[in-house]
Amino acid sequence: MPQSHHSHSGQFCKHATGTLEDVVLEAIRQRFDTFGLTEHVPRYRPQDLYPEEEGIPLDTLRAQFDAFLIEAHRLKMKYADQITLLVGLETEFITQTDMDELDALLAASGGRVEYLVGSVHHVRGIPIDFDQDTFLKCLDSFRSPAPTALTQSTPASTSEEHDAMETFLCAYFDAQHELMRCFHPEVIGHFDLCRLYRPALRFADYPAALALIRRNVRFAATYGALFELNAAAFRKGWDAAYPGADIVEIILQEGGRFVLSDDSHGPHAVGLNYHRIPEYARRVGIAELWALERQSDTGLNAAGRRLVPRRITSPWEHPFWTRERGTSERYARKTTTWMAMRAHAFAVPTNRKSVAVAVDALAHVLNQVSSSSCAAVGLHAGSMVKHLRMNARVARKSLHTASSSPDDASDASYEYNASQTERSSEAAFAVPKHPAL
Ligand SMILES: [Zn+2]
Ligand SMILES: [Zn+2]
Repeated sequence: MPQSHHSHSGQFCKHATGTLEDVVLEAIRQRFDTFGLTEHVPRYRPQDLYPEEEGIPLDTLRAQFDAFLIEAHRLKMKYADQITLLVGLETEFITQTDMDELDALLAASGGRVEYLVGSVHHVRGIPIDFDQDTFLKCLDSFRSPAPTALTQSTPASTSEEHDAMETFLCAYFDAQHELMRCFHPEVIGHFDLCRLYRPALRFADYPAALALIRRNVRFAATYGALFELNAAAFRKGWDAAYPGADIVEIILQEGGRFVLSDDSHGPHAVGLNYHRIPEYARRVGIAELWALERQSDTGLNAAGRRLVPRRITSPWEHPFWTRERGTSERYARKTTTWMAMRAHAFAVPTNRKSVAVAVDALAHVLNQVSSSSCAAVGLHAGSMVKHLRMNARVARKSLHTASSSPDDASDASYEYNASQTERSSEAAFAVPKHPAL
């Protein structure tokens, strides 16, 4: 105990941090028994690159993915006596090209891709989890055509809003279904990512989408897929893991099984917010946990690969779930400092992109600070947060000086993120984590 079936590293994913080996070492330190390495597949159109990948040739992304497979298998062998590493990938479904290329990639991998985390991050080719504004852009694409001169003064009605959202949700769940149908991913990644920026959304209000959800859950459960209980939602500000309670209920009704994932983007996020998982699982009625394992004698799974689910006995009774968080004070202190330094380096940005990276780094540090419960780190974090407040101000200021951008919507979104980050850092500073100090 415990496991994670979904992770990234800065070595092979530009919006993550740390080397793949650092990630593995941290998982070993926390005594994970199973840890899945699942970098994103390459993307195949220049417009689908992440902002931090701008200018990277598409061929380089493919070469980077190949290098990931080699390194992941090297680590799997090297640490085999300390941890079970599973080597997989996280899918993309932006256009049909992604499906065709995934087919080719799996055929060429010669079994080195042991399993798939089946995720959808785009609807109509637009990212749904990048930031609020991009999400709204996606949602807008589902609204009726622009109003004519006659109707211009009439604001969009509630029912139009509702219809746009429902059509968006249906498109998301149709893409998810297509992905499952074609590739039978062993793990269904963050099932309800489509409501990342609408955490209060209840699918019961969207009957057409709800029907597709049930269809997808039933299909996945029938071919033996496992559903992620993904802790990343906590760091995105949810009071829940993915999926939310209403989806969990359907998964349980359909006999679906759950696996744990931290969806970490670097060593600092390995196991992040796992301490909130048992309470959430109890709240939504998840009593059983499963994990993927290699078994040579059970034949092939529905996708023709070798990993099969194993039931974890008494999943919540392991000491991992009850031990005091932050037992490794030295480690927490080290990562907090490291992230703060990184944030500082990026806080003298010369363009919008580095502002975005700075803001993201600041958010990571705050996350680290608020998830550490050991007293010395709390004290240490206090002084770090002072730095962060300054950095956030620098980042915000540079938003106004780097205004040569043609994309005002993104500027507004960075501005929003920067001010949010500043507010959280102020809050962290104002409320001491450890009053005794
Ligand atoms: Zn994902
Ligand atoms: Zn991921």
